[in-house]
Amino acid sequence: MQGLFADIDDHASSYLARLAQAASQPSIAATGQGIAEMAAMLEAMLVGVGFQVEQVPTAGSPVVFAAIETGAEKTLLFYNHYDVQPPEPLAEWESPPFEPTIRGGKFYARGAADNKGATIARLCAIESYLRVRKRLPVNLLWAVEGEEEVGSVHLHQFIAARKDVLQRAYGCIWEAGGKNAHERCEIALGCKGILYLELGAREAARDLHSALAATVASPVWRLLWALNNLKGPDGLVRIPGFYDDVLPPTPAQRQLVADWDYPEEQSRELYGIERFLDGLTGEELKTRLVFGPTCNVDGFHAGYGGPGSKTVLPCEAMAKVDFRLVPDQQVEVIVQQLRAHLDREGFADVEIAWWEGEAPSMGDPAHPFVQEVVRSAEAVYGHSPALLPLMAGTGPVHLLCGQFGIPITTAGVGYADSRVHAPNENIRTDDFFDHMRHVVTLLDRFEAHR
Ligand SMILES: [Zn+2]
Repeated sequence: MQGLFADIDDHASSYLARLAQAASQPSIAATGQGIAEMAAMLEAMLVGVGFQVEQVPTAGSPVVFAAIETGAEKTLLFYNHYDVQPPEPLAEWESPPFEPTIRGGKFYARGAADNKGATIARLCAIESYLRVRKRLPVNLLWAVEGEEEVGSVHLHQFIAARKDVLQRAYGCIWEAGGKNAHERCEIALGCKGILYLELGAREAARDLHSALAATVASPVWRLLWALNNLKGPDGLVRIPGFYDDVLPPTPAQRQLVADWDYPEEQSRELYGIERFLDGLTGEELKTRLVFGPTCNVDGFHAGYGGPGSKTVLPCEAMAKVDFRLVPDQQVEVIVQQLRAHLDREGFADVEIAWWEGEAPSMGDPAHPFVQEVVRSAEAVYGHSPALLPLMAGTGPVHLLCGQFGIPITTAGVGYADSRVHAPNENIRTDDFFDHMRHVVTLLDRFEAHR
């Protein structure tokens, strides 16, 4: 490893400069700003390192798809994204979001942690590996999408177009990851799914004087009562059948959660809460976080919310609701169950205006690929990473990997104060270089096991 690590050290300043170049380019999926420029920059960087690169078009942003074919038996897949969240509120940034700045060993910029830091670290790791070892011990595929921050809405088009190639992957290093508040690496092996939907209620043709509440139905009450049928104060989802397909965690998965040193107190402080939901703590808290499906109201809009009073009977009300799903819950099944439930409870008039979703995907900690990633993390970080069967969030794991039986592991450059999606997003430069060391160490393990 010495030669590889020395090469990374020798190129530290140019590798940081490359990250700064990438982070200087806005690439905001929500607005489209700089997406084409970022895809072009990334393509040029990948070609420079020796990849064959194509931009696979979709109805949205192109997927930058890169490959190095070596004729090896195994194929490794990387998944990253080149888009970022909008930088607002700008006034809260200590340095402008697209003018990368290093202060106190930390690299500040929008996208530093999510996800340009890991993307560029992997690119640099491959460059060092090729310089020192001359060739890779695996075929390498790399899908870098440009719409992750808006729900990977067109990724399925890329997958349909390149399915035959993608299916060859033995394992995939997923985009996110890093260290928790205890400085312990966390590696997730899957993610929860999501069902996101909008419920709407409507009555009169227009807003009316609130005196008419005596005789005209209120869509606001209709929607509130309908929402009451989704979840009760006991925290349980009231849709019949909702829990039917939830797989109980296996003993091995339970053990992983038991071994996870979730920073409970730090998290409470970070969120500014006195206690967790239902007073959850310890094993129960961790189990709920990893294995529990959720039902959450993201927003509720109706009527007047301005200063003073306005006596109005609103003509419509709308709520946005998301469910985090766990294996083997299925998006379409839950939508059908919800519709049937609302109808049965007398809310046929409450419409599901639209919905979208992603399936959950769970990993197997015993898979040899997972073990290779874990062993190489141990070698670099000097401790055993926490393995999480599911991450609490959602990504297109099922779409890109789960449906083909490809195991994933996260690995990345983030830490507890990376401020992902928020002002002053940052990574520690040490973590940036450690991720490179992790990747080259993993490649060397593949070399040893050829
Ligand atoms: Zn993100």
